Amino acid sequence: MTLIAVSKQQPDERIDAALSAGQRAFGENRVQEAQARWTGRRARYPDLELRLIGPLQSNKAQAAAALFDVIETLDRDSLAAALRKAMDGTGRAPRLYVQVNTGGEAQKSGVAPGEAAAFVARMRADYGFDIEGLMCLPPLEEPAGPHFALLVRLARDCGVAKLSMGMSGDFETAVALGATSVRVGSALFGERAGE
Ligand SMILES: *Cc1c(COP(=O)(O)O)cnc(C)c1O
Repeated sequence: MTLIAVSKQQPDERIDAALSAGQRAFGENRVQEAQARWTGRRARYPDLELRLIGPLQSNKAQAAAALFDVIETLDRDSLAAALRKAMDGTGRAPRLYVQVNTGGEAQKSGVAPGEAAAFVARMRADYGFDIEGLMCLPPLEEPAGPHFALLVRLARDCGVAKLSMGMSGDFETAVALGATSVRVGSALFGERAGE
Protein backbone atom coordinates (compact mmCIF):
# COMPACT_ATOMS: atom_id res chain seq x y z
CA MET A 1 0.00 0.00 0.00
CA THR A 2 1.41 3.33 -1.07
CA LEU A 3 0.25 6.57 0.49
CA ILE A 4 0.25 9.28 -2.16
CA ALA A 5 0.34 12.62 -0.38
CA VAL A 6 -1.67 14.99 -2.57
CA SER A 7 0.26 18.24 -2.37
CA LYS A 8 -1.69 20.36 -4.88
CA GLN A 9 -2.47 23.88 -3.62
CA GLN A 10 -0.71 23.27 -0.33
CA PRO A 11 1.81 25.72 1.15
CA ASP A 12 5.48 24.83 0.87
CA GLU A 13 6.00 24.45 4.61
CA ARG A 14 3.50 21.59 4.77
CA ILE A 15 5.22 19.83 1.87
CA ASP A 16 8.63 20.25 3.45
CA ALA A 17 7.33 18.94 6.78
CA ALA A 18 6.05 15.80 5.00
CA LEU A 19 9.41 15.37 3.25
CA SER A 20 11.23 15.73 6.59
CA ALA A 21 8.94 13.08 8.07
CA GLY A 22 10.02 10.71 5.29
CA GLN A 23 7.08 10.92 2.89
CA ARG A 24 8.30 10.45 -0.70
CA ALA A 25 5.24 9.80 -2.91
CA PHE A 26 3.31 12.92 -3.88
CA GLY A 27 0.36 13.61 -6.17
CA GLU A 28 -0.24 16.77 -8.19
CA ASN A 29 -3.05 17.64 -10.58
CA ARG A 30 -1.42 20.40 -12.64
CA VAL A 31 1.78 20.14 -14.63
CA GLN A 32 2.90 23.75 -14.22
CA GLU A 33 2.21 23.92 -10.49
CA ALA A 34 4.10 20.65 -10.05
CA GLN A 35 7.09 21.87 -12.07
CA ALA A 36 7.36 24.98 -9.91
CA ARG A 37 7.15 23.02 -6.68
CA TRP A 38 9.18 19.94 -7.46
CA THR A 39 11.95 20.75 -9.90
CA GLY A 40 14.25 22.06 -7.14
CA ARG A 41 13.13 19.58 -4.48
CA ARG A 42 13.79 16.69 -6.85
CA ALA A 43 17.53 17.40 -6.66
CA ARG A 44 17.42 17.24 -2.86
CA TYR A 45 15.24 14.13 -2.71
CA PRO A 46 16.33 11.78 -5.48
CA ASP A 47 13.98 9.06 -4.22
CA LEU A 48 10.84 11.13 -4.78
CA GLU A 49 7.93 9.56 -6.61
CA LEU A 50 5.80 12.19 -8.32
CA ARG A 51 2.40 11.21 -9.64
CA LEU A 52 0.17 13.18 -11.98
CA ILE A 53 -3.41 12.58 -10.84
CA GLY A 54 -5.20 15.33 -12.80
CA PRO A 55 -6.26 15.49 -16.46
CA LEU A 56 -3.40 15.92 -18.94
CA GLN A 57 -3.63 17.95 -22.14
CA SER A 58 -1.70 16.44 -25.04
CA ASN A 59 0.34 19.63 -25.50
CA LYS A 60 1.72 19.14 -21.97
CA ALA A 61 2.68 15.50 -22.50
CA GLN A 62 6.35 16.37 -23.01
CA ALA A 63 6.57 18.37 -19.76
CA ALA A 64 4.64 15.69 -17.88
CA ALA A 65 6.87 12.87 -19.13
CA ALA A 66 9.94 14.88 -18.12
CA LEU A 67 8.71 15.49 -14.55
CA PHE A 68 6.44 12.69 -13.36
CA ASP A 69 7.34 9.15 -12.38
CA VAL A 70 3.74 7.99 -12.72
CA ILE A 71 0.90 9.35 -14.85
CA GLU A 72 -2.46 8.10 -13.57
CA THR A 73 -4.81 9.78 -16.02
CA LEU A 74 -4.28 8.15 -19.42
CA ASP A 75 -7.75 8.06 -20.99
CA ARG A 76 -7.61 8.61 -24.76
CA ASP A 77 -5.68 7.66 -27.88
CA SER A 78 -4.62 11.22 -28.72
CA LEU A 79 -2.94 11.48 -25.30
CA ALA A 80 -1.36 8.05 -25.72
CA ALA A 81 0.17 9.14 -29.03
CA ALA A 82 1.49 12.36 -27.47
CA LEU A 83 2.94 10.44 -24.51
CA ARG A 84 4.58 7.86 -26.80
CA LYS A 85 6.28 10.68 -28.68
CA ALA A 86 7.24 12.47 -25.44
CA MET A 87 8.66 9.30 -23.93
CA ASP A 88 10.71 8.54 -27.03
CA GLY A 89 11.89 12.15 -27.11
CA THR A 90 12.82 12.55 -23.45
CA GLY A 91 14.01 9.01 -22.81
CA ARG A 92 11.84 9.00 -19.68
CA ALA A 93 9.06 6.47 -19.34
CA PRO A 94 6.64 7.27 -16.51
CA ARG A 95 4.62 4.31 -15.28
CA LEU A 96 1.05 4.56 -16.55
CA TYR A 97 -2.43 4.11 -15.11
CA VAL A 98 -5.67 4.28 -17.07
CA GLN A 99 -8.33 6.47 -15.49
CA VAL A 100 -11.82 4.95 -15.54
CA ASN A 101 -14.91 7.16 -15.26
CA THR A 102 -16.77 4.66 -13.07
CA GLY A 103 -19.71 7.02 -12.53
CA GLY A 104 -20.11 7.85 -16.23
CA GLU A 105 -20.03 11.56 -15.38
CA ALA A 106 -20.08 13.85 -18.41
CA GLN A 107 -17.67 16.41 -16.95
CA LYS A 108 -15.16 13.85 -15.70
CA SER A 109 -12.16 12.39 -17.51
CA GLY A 110 -11.63 8.67 -17.88
CA VAL A 111 -12.63 5.85 -20.19
CA ALA A 112 -16.11 4.34 -19.82
CA PRO A 113 -16.11 1.14 -17.73
CA GLY A 114 -17.35 -0.88 -20.72
CA GLU A 115 -14.42 0.32 -22.81
CA ALA A 116 -11.66 -0.19 -20.26
CA ALA A 117 -10.52 -3.67 -21.32
CA ALA A 118 -10.36 -2.78 -25.03
CA PHE A 119 -8.60 0.50 -24.23
CA VAL A 120 -5.93 -1.19 -22.11
CA ALA A 121 -5.40 -3.83 -24.80
CA ARG A 122 -4.97 -1.09 -27.39
CA MET A 123 -2.50 0.82 -25.19
CA ARG A 124 -0.36 -2.31 -25.06
CA ALA A 125 -0.67 -3.31 -28.71
CA ASP A 126 -0.60 0.06 -30.47
CA TYR A 127 1.63 2.15 -28.20
CA GLY A 128 3.79 -0.44 -26.49
CA PHE A 129 2.69 0.73 -23.04
CA ASP A 130 2.95 -1.50 -20.02
CA ILE A 131 -0.18 -0.37 -18.13
CA GLU A 132 0.52 -0.64 -14.40
CA GLY A 133 -2.96 -0.06 -13.04
CA LEU A 134 -6.36 1.62 -13.07
CA MET A 135 -7.41 4.80 -11.28
CA CYS A 136 -10.85 6.17 -10.44
CA LEU A 137 -12.44 9.23 -8.87
CA PRO A 138 -16.02 8.31 -7.88
CA PRO A 139 -18.86 10.85 -8.01
CA LEU A 140 -18.76 13.02 -4.89
CA GLU A 141 -22.40 12.50 -4.03
CA GLU A 142 -22.40 8.69 -4.14
CA PRO A 143 -21.03 6.03 -1.79
CA ALA A 144 -17.61 5.13 -3.15
CA GLY A 145 -17.65 1.40 -2.35
CA PRO A 146 -19.50 0.23 -5.48
CA HIS A 147 -17.18 2.32 -7.66
CA PHE A 148 -14.09 0.80 -6.03
CA ALA A 149 -15.58 -2.69 -6.42
CA LEU A 150 -16.18 -1.98 -10.11
CA LEU A 151 -12.56 -0.85 -10.54
CA VAL A 152 -11.38 -4.09 -8.90
CA ARG A 153 -13.40 -6.15 -11.40
CA LEU A 154 -12.19 -4.10 -14.34
CA ALA A 155 -8.57 -4.47 -13.28
CA ARG A 156 -9.03 -8.22 -13.29
CA ASP A 157 -10.61 -8.09 -16.78
CA CYS A 158 -7.78 -5.90 -18.04
CA GLY A 159 -5.02 -7.97 -16.44
CA VAL A 160 -3.54 -5.04 -14.50
CA ALA A 161 -2.24 -5.36 -10.95
CA LYS A 162 -2.50 -1.94 -9.34
CA LEU A 163 -5.48 0.09 -8.13
CA SER A 164 -5.24 3.81 -7.35
CA MET A 165 -8.42 4.57 -5.44
CA GLY A 166 -9.48 6.32 -2.25
CA MET A 167 -9.08 9.91 -1.03
CA SER A 168 -9.41 11.67 2.33
CA GLY A 169 -13.10 10.86 2.70
CA ASP A 170 -13.05 7.22 1.64
CA PHE A 171 -9.56 5.74 1.82
CA GLU A 172 -10.55 3.18 4.48
CA THR A 173 -13.17 1.74 2.13
CA ALA A 174 -10.68 1.74 -0.74
CA VAL A 175 -8.05 -0.09 1.30
CA ALA A 176 -10.60 -2.67 2.47
CA LEU A 177 -11.51 -3.34 -1.17
CA GLY A 178 -7.93 -3.74 -2.37
CA ALA A 179 -6.44 -0.34 -3.21
CA THR A 180 -2.69 -0.54 -3.81
CA SER A 181 -2.37 3.23 -3.45
CA VAL A 182 -4.56 5.91 -1.88
CA ARG A 183 -4.41 9.61 -2.78
CA VAL A 184 -4.84 11.62 0.39
CA GLY A 185 -4.66 15.41 0.47
CA SER A 186 -6.70 17.36 3.00
CA ALA A 187 -6.73 14.63 5.69
CA LEU A 188 -2.95 14.78 5.69
CA PHE A 189 -2.16 18.44 5.04
CA GLY A 190 -5.34 20.27 6.05
CA GLU A 191 -7.68 22.22 3.80
CA ARG A 192 -6.27 23.49 0.53
CA ALA A 193 -5.86 27.19 -0.18
CA GLY A 194 -9.02 28.56 -1.72
CA GLU A 195 -11.33 25.77 -0.54
C1 LIG B 1 -7.36 16.53 -4.95
C2 LIG B 1 -7.38 15.09 -5.32
C3 LIG B 1 -7.22 14.09 -4.33
C4 LIG B 1 -7.10 14.38 -2.84
O1 LIG B 1 -8.30 14.83 -2.34
P1 LIG B 1 -8.53 14.92 -0.73
O2 LIG B 1 -10.01 14.81 -0.61
O3 LIG B 1 -7.98 16.21 -0.31
O4 LIG B 1 -7.84 13.78 -0.11
C5 LIG B 1 -7.19 12.77 -4.76
N1 LIG B 1 -7.30 12.44 -6.05
C6 LIG B 1 -7.45 13.37 -7.02
C7 LIG B 1 -7.55 12.91 -8.43
C8 LIG B 1 -7.49 14.71 -6.69
O5 LIG B 1 -7.63 15.63 -7.67
